[in-house]
Amino acid sequence: MSTSVIKCKAAVAWEVDKPLSIEEVEVAPPKAHEVRVKIVATGICGTDDHVLKGSIPNIDYPFIPGHEGAGIVESIGEGVTCVKPGDKVIPLCLPQCGECSFCLNPDTNCCLKTHLHESQNLMPDKTSRFTCKGKAIHHFLWISTFSEYTVMPDSAIARIDDDAPLDKVCLFGCGFSTGYGAAINTAKVKPGSTCAIFGLGGVGLSVVVGCKSAGASRIIGIDINKDKFTKARELGATECINPQDFKKPIQEVLLEMTGHGVDYSFEVVGHTDTMVCKYTLQLFHKFHSM
Ligand code: NAD
Ligand code: ZN
Ligand code: ZN
Repeated sequence: MSTSVIKCKAAVAWEVDKPLSIEEVEVAPPKAHEVRVKIVATGICGTDDHVLKGSIPNIDYPFIPGHEGAGIVESIGEGVTCVKPGDKVIPLCLPQCGECSFCLNPDTNCCLKTHLHESQNLMPDKTSRFTCKGKAIHHFLWISTFSEYTVMPDSAIARIDDDAPLDKVCLFGCGFSTGYGAAINTAKVKPGSTCAIFGLGGVGLSVVVGCKSAGASRIIGIDINKDKFTKARELGATECINPQDFKKPIQEVLLEMTGHGVDYSFEVVGHTDTMVCKYTLQLFHKFHSM
């Protein structure tokens, strides 16, 4: 058990829609059922961007964002049995207490300890382990991976293999699991099927990997940034299209490309306007006026 405060660097969000500021922060030792982790690698997820722009409510400023990291346990609080100092770990932005009715239900992984039920802006005892310039700084999703050291509850951590390359496996913390899981577990993509993926960021590319592993025969990547196409093709996209290259709506383009539309469509941009299919609405009105 550690009682020392660690001074390290962290990226602090002081105000909404302002650049992050690299600051020296103090990280207090972990209390009972908490773990302090040295973060070795962190990804930047699209959700960090939404949060910093103020599009996600219930975030308390100032805070340290980041939720896609990997690191090494530095110290543990009283009662922690799932990890020990020196273990390689992935912090979990969706905790897994393993006991609540949601954790015990195979159809969901939204542990009842998530922000939907309990704020993850402070530790479960409603205090912060971060201080900067004498001011308490909020946590983010309990894991705040944009800090060299961070503290999380022991329900928000997974031990991983000692040989795991931390700079790669950090993506399991959010983007890869979200995208791959959407194709494999949620959509249950079938062999030989045709898939469309709107948005080829970290999550969209992970959907591409999931569709390929599931045996999809056509995987159509759609993005307004054509620089994403090379990586998408490397990972399994069979075609890539940019909606801005067409005059007609993208859903009509897809209909022409496939003859009958796609079997699975994934929205991985995160904007409501890409989720509304005007073509479906037009068809709906057409059939109902017949
Ligand atoms: P990202 O910013 O890396 O990728 C988004 C991609 O969408 C970019 O390549 C961008 O060029 C493209 N894009 C933007 N507007 C578009 C449009 N109109 N048509 C087609 N493509 C367009 O983000 P990401 O990390 O891949 O995350 C994607 C979304 O998933 C975000 O909204 C994020 O908040 C969300 N997300 C949700 C969960 C979850 O629910 N568990 C987890 C992770 C991310
Ligand atoms: Zn994320
Ligand atoms: Zn739970």
